[in-house]
Formats: sequence, structure tokens, C-alpha cells
Amino acid sequence: ALDFGIQEALEKLGVKEINEGTSTGSENFASGETISSYSPVDGALIGTVIGTSEADYEKAIATAGEAFKTWRQIPAPQRGEIVRQFGEKLRELKEPLGKLVSYEMGKSYQEGLGEVQEMIDICDFAVGLSRQLHGLTMHSERPLHRMYEQYHPLGIVGIISAFNFPVAVWSWNTALAWVCGDVCVWKPSEKTPICGIACQNIIAEVLRENYLPEGISCLINGDYRVGEFMTKDKRIPLISATGSIRMGKIVAQAVAARLGKSLLELGGNNAIIVTPDADIKMTVIGAVFGAVGTAGQRCTSTRRLIIHEKIYEQVKEALVSAYGQLRIGNPLDQNNHVGPLIDKDAVELYQKALEKAEQEGGKVLVQGGVLDGPGYESGCYVKPAIVEADNSFEIVQEETFAPILYLLKYSGEVTNAIATQNNVVQGLSSAIMTNNLREAEQFLSAAGSDCGIANVNIGTSGAEIGGAFGGEKETGGGRESGSDAWKIYMRRQTNTINYSTELPLAQGIKFDL
Ligand code: NAD
Repeated sequence: ALDFGIQEALEKLGVKEINEGTSTGSENFASGETISSYSPVDGALIGTVIGTSEADYEKAIATAGEAFKTWRQIPAPQRGEIVRQFGEKLRELKEPLGKLVSYEMGKSYQEGLGEVQEMIDICDFAVGLSRQLHGLTMHSERPLHRMYEQYHPLGIVGIISAFNFPVAVWSWNTALAWVCGDVCVWKPSEKTPICGIACQNIIAEVLRENYLPEGISCLINGDYRVGEFMTKDKRIPLISATGSIRMGKIVAQAVAARLGKSLLELGGNNAIIVTPDADIKMTVIGAVFGAVGTAGQRCTSTRRLIIHEKIYEQVKEALVSAYGQLRIGNPLDQNNHVGPLIDKDAVELYQKALEKAEQEGGKVLVQGGVLDGPGYESGCYVKPAIVEADNSFEIVQEETFAPILYLLKYSGEVTNAIATQNNVVQGLSSAIMTNNLREAEQFLSAAGSDCGIANVNIGTSGAEIGGAFGGEKETGGGRESGSDAWKIYMRRQTNTINYSTELPLAQGIKFDL
């Protein structure tokens, strides 16, 4: 039987067989629908989470609202100290949490550890940020007046997250939101509820140890209906939603209908342009990791390679040979490169996409297929595939959350490749492989890539937390993590102070009494 220390990891993380899925910190309760979480690794039941009913939700929001009244008054650097302690706990629990991420979501153990490392990194970032929530000062046009701006906490931040980064996305939001003085309510994906329970247990302990009020971190569980409690709720000024474009369009409209703010991190259709001046060895490593890492279930996974005709055959052969070396299997076994897809629905979408690509005229270079037999009992393991295609195919225009890589050929100038790369509705991540400075700069220019992320000689996946993360067009326009992404979690206030004995009006307007 598969173990790889899963039982021990669950114990360390305080996960039980049956878990109450609504939590306000030390208080856990639940009276909603039950969610059973099965591992795509071996098909075994990991645990059960009782979901959040509307009454449970009301209780959680009321508690969060009360907590906000205290939390917003605590100086930001002291809030940073709490986030520092949270980061310390994550360091202690990196291995069990990384293991759970791998087991519940299916990504490799290394990637599971990497995801927890991202949580630690964003905590460190947020601690420094807690002393740098800067506003500007301006010069008033009126004598003896002072003008400045300051940032205040927003209130309750609602977080809706996707299955593929079951812990990191939450922390990108919470670490910043907490130092900004907000309280957070999180609905994890219904496909990875146990990761949510584990994370909430960790922060709840930190809050308890510091005698902080219930509700600074709340957890709710369930499917889109539980998400809708939040998107329609006027008491939540900001909804941060990560997931499919389909979901983003619904969420954005629901939040806009009440004039709330939304931060959207939606799907990608990421390409690498490979020019005649590319380093082929680097290109192949970057493309293969980008296409098959996390079994193609990253928002930044490489889906399209746009290769110049001069080197097309050479790159194609190198890729096909590299795919021949891939080992598919249990992601907790560090000898394997590719783990399972999240569930059988995802397997079906993968199969349909491959069929459609062929129907549209695609030529299969590396055959896909579902694996069965010993080690593949969950039915979620598939073979990474490569298809020669055209950018105009409907299936190439869509994001299929699976390891399917489309090879597209271009000729002539790099501007042709850039036009192809931009000719999709998504705008998340993009990359160019070239040692030619002119090509690289064209790709990065105002007329270049239209994505939120544009890399040179690096693949499309694997962002660092220091930069702002997100994309344009139907990817939703949101930015999370580094740079000045914190600003969306706060409200800006402009203050003008008159310390004269007169009341001059702006624009020189006269008004005498
Ligand atoms: P999904 O859209 O099916 O679900 C995401 C979350 O939204 C879940 O928690 C779900 O319950 C919730 N949800 C769905 N409909 C809702 C509604 N109407 N109201 C409120 N909540 C609702 O996505 P998924 O399959 O879990 O994740 C894969 C997708 O996420 C891919 O498209 C991927 O590119 C995207 N993603 C994007 C980023 C990014 O940062 N841009 C990061 C990770 C994943």
C-alpha cells in the first residue's frame, strides 16, 4: 500500500477523518453538504470535510467583521510580526504540508515543497512590507496647507481559489491582506478541501498563541454555491478569485453588480517563441518542464511553442526524444516526472481535446493516452502529448488543463511570432528563447507580448513572489504577490490639512461672505 508518510503528515497538520469545514480560528463548525476528498495519486479517500451552510456562513462573516474592528487598530508592523510567526510555522511544517499538497492535488513532491516555499517567501515579503505601506505627500497649491495620501485597511477580503495551487494562492492573498489590516475569508477549491483545513489549522494556532480575536482568518468550504455567498455579499469589499475564465466572468459580474472590487487571476494560454537564435538545449528543458510540470495543470503551463521554420525540425526532434524519457507515476516517488491529473473529469477533457485537435487537422507527434494497470489505479494518469497544430484551431485557442503541447511554425521576422502569440483571448504568461538582443527587446516592447508576464530565456511557468503576478485580457487583469500588488487590499485616502487662519479655495475660486 502507498504510504510515503501521508498518515504522519495528516496527523502533524491536525487533519482528521471528518473535519468541520467552517472555521473562524479556534471555533470550527459545519452543517452544510459533505465533501469527500479522494487522492488522484491512488484513488484513496484522504478525508471528509463538512461544508458551510448559509447559517454557518453568516456566523463566520459576523465573526470576521468583529475581528476586523480589532485587527485594523493594531499597528501594521505588529501585524507583520504575526505573519512572521505564520511563516515560521510553515517552515516547521513544510514537509508534511508539501506532502499533502502532492497527495491531494497530484503535483510532484518537489513541486509541493516548492508551493509551501512560496508561502514562506510571501510571508517574508509581507513582513518587510508591513513597514512600507507608503503613501505619497503632495504640494498643495494653497498656502499653509498640507496634502498627503494614506492607505487604510479595506475590511473583509474574500478569497476563492483553484485546485492547482491549493495552498500558495491563499497565502499570496492573506499574507498581504493581513499586514494591510484586513481579515480574510477563504473558500478553497472543492477538489482540495483538506489542504484548506491544514492551512487554517496552522494560522489558527498562531492567532491563538497571540491571543488575537477569532475571525482574522476564516475558512468556508463547498462548491460554487458557497462561493456565491461571498460574491453577492456587500459586506465583502474585495473578492480575490483564482480559477477558470468561465468562473471569472460570473464572479466579476456578481461583484460588479454590487460595485465591489474584484481581483481576478484566470486562465492562460501561454506560449514560448523559439527563434533561430535560441539556445536549443535550454529551450527543450524550459518547454518540457513548462508543458508537463504539474501534469500541465499550472495557469502558466506552456501550451504553445511557436518555432521558426529554420530550427523547427531540430526542436521537434529534441522534444520528441525528451518526451521519450519522461517517467509517469506516483508524484510522491521522486523518480517520476509526471503525476496524475486532478480527477477523471480532467482526464475526459484531456481526451476530448486530443480528439478535437486531430479532427481540426492536428498531427500527433507524441501520442497521448490514459494509463492503467499497477500504480495507475486512480485512473487519473495520462501521457503527455505533442501535437503539430495551427494557432487558428479552436482547441489551440482554449486552455486545456492537461499536458498537451501544440507546436506552431512561423517564418520571417519575430514580429510574426509575436502576432501569433498574442492572437488568443488569454494574456497570462509568455516567453522568448533567443540570444538576439533585437528580437528580445521587440518581444518586450509596447508592440511585443501582450501578457502580464513576459520572459526572456526562461520558460512560461515558475514565477517568483517578488514580482506582481497576473495577466491581461480574459486572464482578468488582477495582480497578486510582489511589487505594489498590496494596494488593492487597501483603500486610499487623500487628506488636505489647512494650518492657516484663512480658508482659500482650490482653483482660486472666490466665495466671500
Ligand atoms: P474553477 O474555475 O473550476 O474553480 C475555481 C474556484 O472558483 C473554485 O473554488 C470554485 O468552487 C469557484 N467557483 C466556481 N464557480 C463559481 C461561482 N460562480 N461563484 C463563486 N465561486 C465559483 O477552476 P479550477 O479548475 O479549480 O482551476 C483551474 C483554472 O484556474 C485554470 O483555468 C487555471 O488557469 C486557473 N488558474 C489561474 C491562476 C492565475 O493566477 N491566473 C492560478 C491558478 C489557476
